[in-house]
Amino acid sequence: MGNEAIALGAIHSNLSVATGYAGTPSTEVMETIIKEVNRMDKINNDNTNDNNNDTTIYVEWSTNEKVALENAIGASYSGANTIVTMKQVGLNVASDPLMSLTYLGTNGALVIVVTDDPTPHSSQTEQDTRHYGSFANVPVFDPCDAQEAYDLTKYAYEISGKYKTPVILRSTTRLSHGYNDVIIDKVTDNEVIERLKTEKSNIGFIKDPKWAIMPKLVSKNHPILEEKQLKIAEDFSNSNFNNITIFNNKNTDNKNNKKNLGIITSGVSYYYTLEALNILKEDKTNDEFQNFLDNYNIEILKISTPYPFPESKVLDFIKNNKKDILVTVEELDSVLEDNTLKLIGKYNSTINNTNNNNLNNIKFYGKYNLFPKCGEYNVDIVKTLLNKIINEDIEFECNNNNNNNNNNNNNNNNYNNYNKNKMGNGENTEQEITLPVRLPTLCAGCMHRIAFYAFKKVAKEFKKQNIETIFSGDIGCYTLGATPPLSATDTCLCMGAGISLATGLSRVNSNTKNIAFIGDSTFFHSGIPAVVNAVYNEADVTIVVLDNETTAMTGHQPHPGTGQKARGNAKVIDIEKVLKSCNVENVQTIDISKFANIEQEEVFNNILKECKSSMEYKGVSAIIFKGDCVTKKIPNSKKSKAKNLKVVIDENLCNSCKLCINEIGCPALRYDSLNNSIELLDSCTNCGLCINICPKGALSKKLVF
Ligand code: SF4
Ligand code: SF4
Repeated sequence: MGNEAIALGAIHSNLSVATGYAGTPSTEVMETIIKEVNRMDKINNDNTNDNNNDTTIYVEWSTNEKVALENAIGASYSGANTIVTMKQVGLNVASDPLMSLTYLGTNGALVIVVTDDPTPHSSQTEQDTRHYGSFANVPVFDPCDAQEAYDLTKYAYEISGKYKTPVILRSTTRLSHGYNDVIIDKVTDNEVIERLKTEKSNIGFIKDPKWAIMPKLVSKNHPILEEKQLKIAEDFSNSNFNNITIFNNKNTDNKNNKKNLGIITSGVSYYYTLEALNILKEDKTNDEFQNFLDNYNIEILKISTPYPFPESKVLDFIKNNKKDILVTVEELDSVLEDNTLKLIGKYNSTINNTNNNNLNNIKFYGKYNLFPKCGEYNVDIVKTLLNKIINEDIEFECNNNNNNNNNNNNNNNNYNNYNKNKMGNGENTEQEITLPVRLPTLCAGCMHRIAFYAFKKVAKEFKKQNIETIFSGDIGCYTLGATPPLSATDTCLCMGAGISLATGLSRVNSNTKNIAFIGDSTFFHSGIPAVVNAVYNEADVTIVVLDNETTAMTGHQPHPGTGQKARGNAKVIDIEKVLKSCNVENVQTIDISKFANIEQEEVFNNILKECKSSMEYKGVSAIIFKGDCVTKKIPNSKKSKAKNLKVVIDENLCNSCKLCINEIGCPALRYDSLNNSIELLDSCTNCGLCINICPKGALSKKLVF
């Protein structure tokens, strides 16, 4: 897996400190490091399973990305080689220390692994991390497969160490989660341990004014920083990671008379391009492409270090074998395209003088006139668009004023097919298969469903008094509370933003109740500062902490409320005590795990009562729903003595009104339209919530043998 390769690349680069915040698709980088450290501990006969071990790498799941980066910076200042892992939106959180750090530089190598999520599959943005490179003056590495992920990670450590700069290793979902064989260094575990011991003996912070950012220091360091980028760009131009593949080696008599097509690409788009060209080549029925191969050489330049842009390399690529057509293929933003166009503008006159190659005559295709700007690419998209290029089958809708002069020369008009292409994923040449649509939903038996449903029910009571309830949500499992029928999310922005948004809403919406849902991990991530703000500024909000004692959505990573660190145990930081210490006076905890009998009417009514009193409180109130994540519970429930106590449906009482389905949307309840009946699926966890809903008493728990 790409993420595993990155982790191994870091370990083999004398890694000492690893910090991160979980987020798909980055999580497995840290997971792998933790696994490797645990394994090395065993070899070292040291089973302390804790971080106070001098021979292993320090690992930490931090409360958020900013904290993670700041931890790593401290270690790097002390000479340690470090890694920080996060997903793309996490870098927004960590951008504050990053923007400052770049002026001061580092001591030990500091590699920030940031994974982008084109499409996106599980993120709130589709942003392109490569921009942070030029924004913050931080070199960016962009591998195309797991092997290059391993090699490029090592190169990233080399560059970071050499130039004393933080660097970004950028991945995308397809690379992070894709698999291929990787050849790694022949280094034994004992060698890694020995290297680490030597490395650690050299670590120590030396006081120096250069580590304290001051305006004067920044103005002194800024020109040095810019100079550094030019040197790194030159290193990148000479690097074999940015390499050229000759695609068309077909022997023809007119080899030297052939024209040249150059494709500049990066990341997994490199493989999409190679595969697309191979498919076109194999397709003997595609006469146009066969003729094209007779007349054109095709060269592919893969850029694995997009910032600082390896200008010399790209310039040589354009100049050598005078390119007639240039194409940039890249996911998300037009980083390669913009830089190449800038380069052509910058050196055009020089090139004209030296080899009479007028770059104005190059046909240029990228996102501005052909390729989609949004969404993940695939082989089909790239193949379709390359086929269009070779067939000159592109209608340019030129916004250029020259167009009004009845000048229909496409060569001059290849500016703007952007509007046509900006939103699409290209044309799909394959037959479309329509898959059934299923709304994302909370798991069957998820404790969060109880909380959402309870607040929705209480909100209805307030509505009767003309008081509207606004629900502000959070990123994570709780985002699933947004989908019908729960529909308990009116706003959702980013990690931990619910409390701040509810606070803002409470300022301008006088006759409303403002509820902020937040998860336990996000509470520690960025919820606490928002709680402090709400209390201190006397907002009127109800904070609902959905505490299932794990970071569930990313695979059960620990956080300070769990009593576990990345390695070993720790003292729990109690959310209720934190809230109280932040001066939240009205704090209640509902222990869902004690309510195994939630089907009992009085138990559920008590929950409703507590929700109501929390909402009625004037000021900041908080209510913590505490219980196990159902995906952790399921394996244990198999051993449970109560395994035969099951929710059942009495078909004689059920009138198929579907209220149980329409109210809570539990995926374990299904309406069978053929038989007009309600079915309980095997995924039912017997949580009992639906029993409270059925007006006919058709649902109940029974001993089933
Ligand atoms: S709410 Fe009760 S009566 Fe209505 S469909 Fe569900 S089980 Fe049947
Ligand atoms: S008891 Fe009801 S609400 Fe709970 S998991 Fe089973 S069907 Fe869903």
